[in-house]
This record gives sequence, structure tokens and C-alpha cells, in this order.
Amino acid sequence: MKTIPLSPPAVPPTARSLLDCSPQELAEVVKALPHQREDAGGRAASVPAYRIRQIQEWIYKKYARSFEEMSNLPKAMRDGLAASATLTPLTPVEQRVSKAGDTQKVLFQMPDGETIEAVLMLYDQRRTLCISSQAGCAMGCSFCATAQGGLRRNLTAGEIVAQVLFFARYLRNAGERPKMRVKRPTTVTNIVLMGMGEPMHNYKNVWTAIRRLTAADGFGLGARHITLSTVGLVPMIDRMADEGLQVNLAVSLHAPNNALRSKLVPPSRRYPVDDLLASVRRYIAKTNRRVTFEYALMRGVNDNPSLAEDLADKLHGILCHVNLIPLNPIPDSSFQPTSDRDTQRFAERLSARGISTTVRIRRGIEIDAGCGQLRNAAES
Ligand code: SF4
Repeated sequence: MKTIPLSPPAVPPTARSLLDCSPQELAEVVKALPHQREDAGGRAASVPAYRIRQIQEWIYKKYARSFEEMSNLPKAMRDGLAASATLTPLTPVEQRVSKAGDTQKVLFQMPDGETIEAVLMLYDQRRTLCISSQAGCAMGCSFCATAQGGLRRNLTAGEIVAQVLFFARYLRNAGERPKMRVKRPTTVTNIVLMGMGEPMHNYKNVWTAIRRLTAADGFGLGARHITLSTVGLVPMIDRMADEGLQVNLAVSLHAPNNALRSKLVPPSRRYPVDDLLASVRRYIAKTNRRVTFEYALMRGVNDNPSLAEDLADKLHGILCHVNLIPLNPIPDSSFQPTSDRDTQRFAERLSARGISTTVRIRRGIEIDAGCGQLRNAAES
């Protein structure tokens, strides 16, 4: 493992993040700059639409990190933006790269001092980025490092998008940052909202970010390349079914019955397993999209083969896939990962019952890649 402390200049707390702006808001920001042309009545003239398109292109297509790079904007506009706005609302403060060079985690600081994490994983043809949606989390899952500090605050849409743009810049300019073996493709190809926070608990900002990431004049990623992972907030699953974007839904199930699941995932007390699965069925009926169930295997807790049978019973007839996840253990926790052999057995039981099942390849264990682990380490 390689740990690299990073200390670029912090973002002034007053700088307006352009990543939080819709095209209309962007036009307002530019219009309010000093030295903007004035109309006959002494009011700032409105900004031509092509200027806004140019700025958006610099942000989302060329991944500019400074206004100085925006060479087709007038100098006064660039200087005005540099004095009042930012393209980089997140300050990377620590970076960890796995020994194999295929996984890296970055701890970011936000202007108010809160920290979040994002993890980049390189596969043959994919560059998958796991991003955070909240600083901390209110869900209280008993095996999770993020849960330990509770919820600090929601991320803005711009802070969610900023994680993606940071790594998009990194992948494009691999030579300038500490070592990770980056070959093609040199951009982010897949995004999973599985980092810190419950995305459905910050629904509005998360979906504003998703729309910016998928918009043709935004980051332009196909919706099918984005996965939103939830512990199962039932009303929000119903709401997502109406969003009209082909974003993938992953549900962190972790147990097939309510008694066990409530101990692992407290929101299960409010949204019992059967209600949750009913909402998943409604979601599939509306969208015709397959849903993934995440199941983190914990030794002696939820890995008994009889639970695989119960799980197969519960999922019978649902258009789904089960992703078994070897738990990333956290320090001083009683939850430990299931052995490889027992994981395999659990997977075989599900497969034998006709449930499409894979075991997730474990990545980044030595860099504390499980969500919240790096932040907790930095704060301790
Ligand atoms: S596992 Fe996810 S939802 Fe549960 S506490 Fe951790 S971050 Fe929150």
C-alpha cells in the first residue's frame, strides 16, 4: 500500500461551486460578474447561450480544473469567475493506492471541514468509481465504519459530481499523479453510489447529480452505467421507478428475514423485508429492469447455508441477481468476513436454486477501501 498525503490549496468557503449550478444558474453567476456588459438601462446584459455551453464544455467534457484553462472565454470573464467561483469544491487530502495499483481511495475535505471518500477501481475494460452521497450516514448498519459517526450532512449535487470530475481528470492525466497503472479507457466508465451515506436519504441532490452526470451537455455517461445502492427505503424505491432513467438499482439486503436484518440494517424495522421485496417487485414491474441484491457475508452471523435457502425462497420469481460481498472488516468490530470456502458454498446453494449469483472480487482491503474506513482512520 502506498499512502500519499496531498495538500493542494483549500477552497475558500465563499467560492460558489459551478458544479452546483444548472445552466440557468450558471448564466446568473456570469451575469453578476463585474465588467459584464451593461444594457441601455444600466443593467447587466444577459449572457449569450453559447457562452454557457462553452463553460459547460470546459467543465464536463474537458474536465478543466481552473478558469485559466478556459481559453475561449474573455479574460475579464475568466478572472471574474476565478475570483468568485470554483470548479474544485473538494480538496483531496489523502490518497491510498493498493499494492497491485488497481484500486485507490481518496479522502476529500469539503469547505466546511467535513470529509468524504471515493474509491476508483481499474478493471480490464472498466474504470469503476464508488462515490459518497452524504458525509456520514444515519442508517446505523452495525457492520459499517461510516455508521459509527452518524450523519454529518448531505452532500450537494455539486459535491457528488465533483468526485467524478476529480477522477476523470486523474485518469486523463495519469502521468501527473502518484502511481496507478492506467491504460485505456482513460475516463470513468461506471459509477456506483455505494460510498458513504444512503443515497435515497439525500434523494433530491443525488438525482440532480445523476441528471448532470448523464446529461448530453453534462458529463454524458449512460444511465445504465450508474448504480444506486440502498438499504431499502421503500417510498424512495417507488419514487425511483418513476424517474425515467435506466439507472441500476442495488438493494443491500444482508439477511433474508426481518429478525436478523433488523439487527444488521436498522431501517429494516421500519421497512420489513417483505415490504421491501414488494417495492422491488413494483419497481421491476414498472421499469422491467433487473435488480441486484447485495449480501455482505459475515462469519457466523448471516452465512449459515440454511439462510441461503431462505434467501432463495424470498427471491423466487424476482428478476434479480445476488452479489455476495466478502465483508471488509473494520477495527475493533466483532463482524468478520466469511471464509472463501463458506462463501463459495453459500453461492452454490443460491445458484442451485436458480438464483443468478456472483461473488464480488475483494478489492483494496489493505487500503481500508470499505466505506468510511479511511475517514475514521484519519479522524482517530
Ligand atoms: S452500510 Fe451504507 S447505509 Fe449502512 S450505515 Fe454504512 S453507509 Fe450507511
